[in-house]
Amino acid sequence: MTAAGITISDLTFGYGGPPVLDRVSLQVRPGGTTAVLGPSGSGKTTLLRALAGFVRPTQGRIEIGGRILTDAQLLVAPERRGIGYVRQDGALFPHLDVTGNILFGLPRAERRRTSQVGALLELVGLSPSLARRRPDELSGGQQQRVALARALAREPAVVLLDEPFSSLDTALRAATREATLNALAERGATTVLVTHDQVEALSFADQVAVMFDGRFAQIGSPSEVYDAPATPQVGAFLGDTMLLPGLAYGRVADCDLGKLDLAEPATGSVLVMIRPEQVVLEAPSGLTARVVSVAYHGPDAMVRLDLTGTTTRLVARVPGRDAPHPGDLVGVAVPSQVRSFPQPRTA
Ligand code: ADP
Repeated sequence: MTAAGITISDLTFGYGGPPVLDRVSLQVRPGGTTAVLGPSGSGKTTLLRALAGFVRPTQGRIEIGGRILTDAQLLVAPERRGIGYVRQDGALFPHLDVTGNILFGLPRAERRRTSQVGALLELVGLSPSLARRRPDELSGGQQQRVALARALAREPAVVLLDEPFSSLDTALRAATREATLNALAERGATTVLVTHDQVEALSFADQVAVMFDGRFAQIGSPSEVYDAPATPQVGAFLGDTMLLPGLAYGRVADCDLGKLDLAEPATGSVLVMIRPEQVVLEAPSGLTARVVSVAYHGPDAMVRLDLTGTTTRLVARVPGRDAPHPGDLVGVAVPSQVRSFPQPRTA
């Protein structure tokens, strides 16, 4: 199997009503992993369904490996697209064992090759000894890996994952995610993952496409969308943010936290975006703040602060062992570069 890139151009689709996908364009490099990240109802699953060939867009084009699969005239059938699809619930057949599930739907000649089942199970990090188990004898994470093995059995050039880890608990989720990434990398499959979980998107993908209301607000590397969000909305969706009004002149913005260095030059009224991990707490001198509350999480703690002499509320993420106590007076600084957005004019 050779890796195939995906090109989606100007795709528009609605379920009879207003567009659910509104002129969406996206490129996924051959062998790349893209996460489509957005809130519930933003159109992520619909985009996967269009890629898989389950819906006919009203406008636009989908190409995989240079082959047009969808355009104004053409709608290649789902089974002819060379695409594997893994859903949220795995959707295994309850009456078939693991082997039956993995081989289901393969051409008859290939179904006899039960020997490949062991190799596929190992590929997804499962013991071949599970081959005769039924789905109800497997954990949720094991079921998801079997679903992935079933998708990979057909040697697809492209694998689509629709929130495949969301029903798993935290520990299982990380392990299943890693096993999935390893299996996909070994096969060289080009992958599109749909998720509403920003941690999942940032850790899984080499490209993150942030979707709101059927449009991509930003497409970039995980660090680009986190550190340099295109809009305050993207910034807030990817993690906690504080937005402080300020005045920018070049590489500096003046705000309640003093003069902060800007990553990109700006001029005039801005909103300065600060993430909690950028707020550093120190011995009180210069700028000070009163600790309002502390949420302790073990490795880190979220500290809510009232900035002295202002109405500004801050949140700092600090190592758990360094967490101050409610009522403490602390010094605050933001030594790293920050981003800014043009301040919307108010009448
Ligand atoms: P997401 O995957 O981001 O949660 P979806 O693609 O499932 O979003 O849904 C996008 C929008 O399309 C939602 O407003 C949803 O209600 C609507 N929608 C999804 N499936 C259908 C359908 N089969 N018929 C009508 N509307 C649908």
